[in-house]
Amino acid sequence: MLGDYMSLQNPFECAMKQLQNAYSVLKKSKVKSQKSKVELQSKIEILKQPQRIINVTIPVKMDDGALRIFQGYRVQYNNARGPYKGGIRFHPQVSLDEVKALSFWMAMKCAVADLPLGGGKGGIIVDPKTLSAGELERLSRGYARAIADCIGPDRDVPAPDVNTNGIIMGWMVEEYIKVKSEKLKVKSEEKDKLRATFTGKLMKDGGSEGREEATGLGGLYVLQTILAKLNQQSATSNQQLIVAVQGFGNVGYNIAKFLSDAGFTIVAVSDSKGGIYVPEGLNPALTLDCKKKNGTLAGCYCSGSVCDLKRGKPITNEELLELPVDILVPAALESVITKDNAARIKAKVILEMANGPTTPEADEILFKCAVTVIPDILANSGGVTVSAFEWEQNLKSEHWSKEEVNRKLKKKMEAATTSVWDASLRFSTSLRTAAFVVALERILQAMV
Ligand code: NAD
Repeated sequence: MLGDYMSLQNPFECAMKQLQNAYSVLKKSKVKSQKSKVELQSKIEILKQPQRIINVTIPVKMDDGALRIFQGYRVQYNNARGPYKGGIRFHPQVSLDEVKALSFWMAMKCAVADLPLGGGKGGIIVDPKTLSAGELERLSRGYARAIADCIGPDRDVPAPDVNTNGIIMGWMVEEYIKVKSEKLKVKSEEKDKLRATFTGKLMKDGGSEGREEATGLGGLYVLQTILAKLNQQSATSNQQLIVAVQGFGNVGYNIAKFLSDAGFTIVAVSDSKGGIYVPEGLNPALTLDCKKKNGTLAGCYCSGSVCDLKRGKPITNEELLELPVDILVPAALESVITKDNAARIKAKVILEMANGPTTPEADEILFKCAVTVIPDILANSGGVTVSAFEWEQNLKSEHWSKEEVNRKLKKKMEAATTSVWDASLRFSTSLRTAAFVVALERILQAMV
């Protein structure tokens, strides 16, 4: 799943367009003296390129005895606010421009969420589905070994991304600690701190409570904060708002579940094979159980406490996006909302839980149609926020309860959303440009 926008347009060019938009807003509104104008321009020039690109080759002994060399990257975009932070993606379409764009967005996302972290990203060009478990482990360990000198709790803190997970983070952190212990005499209490080099780990390897559902829960907090602000403007009620969710993986399922528990009505969900539409509202937990049992979403029209084949109907992913709903939640792929379908979207609010679901052309159309697009770098920043909590817990040798994690997450998400909302009013821009402006202001301030 992913990479579609990569074929439509260069993702790094898209990222630079967003940087330019935010810069134009700042330039017009803020800069008074010639000196500060020049200073701002120089800092923006610096932000047009990553600080460091690490290009690695990873030799892996395959099960048949042959040696295969894989290509990997780690891009360290900007560390003005703290160590680089960002996931590692395993995908056949990984490219340097993709990793550069993703690392730029991580810098922006961490700044919006006001985390003491910069932005980075990693990737390996590989289809992990073609590897055996042993080959996958050797590749993961080889990558950790290859980048070991450039990462660390106060240098660069990787995490899972598409096709990587807590198990892979466990192999990587173990390998990293092994490399460090071979080179330096690391005491056992220091080894524990080195676990903070990777986040998104399983609990047994030092992971945090609440990480699994953090992106979805963070999305709920962001949405509730925005709706409260919109309601102050229009005096409408949130009660019984109708929602369609594209994607039913980690993020899609969790946001559907949290929204449903909070009283929203989820009328549609989908996965790569298609969607289901239940106009009276479906039960996400029951729908997931049904999908697990059947191996497919088809026929899982689960409302109340039963799944009933007569209640709903199958729909395509394209139809799901255009349903008559109040809130649309893209939570699967990049570039699903384009100039071709943007004008047909009926939702008045779009909560971007996926990374990059809306193309820049579609963004302009939606803005003109007064659709409130809650941008990805804000909407899905709950995941990296709890990753930052994991890093902090490892560094302090602490273990926070799920309640504590969720309470801190809520506070962070509400503060980030309010900053973006206020900036959108201050600069009369979309929430997306406002989010980039907020991030940029914080990064520029930290740059020396
Ligand atoms: P996932 O692999 O768990 O789930 C992806 C879902 O998308 C699955 O239900 C899959 O069937 C569906 N899908 C795949 N191809 C599709 C298609 N063509 N049409 C419709 N649905 C399709 O992934 P995830 O972790 O839930 O990530 C989803 C999105 O959220 C990605 O854009 C990811 O970058 C972003 N994101 C995830 C996190 C996180 O913490 N997991 C954090 C921030 C952003």
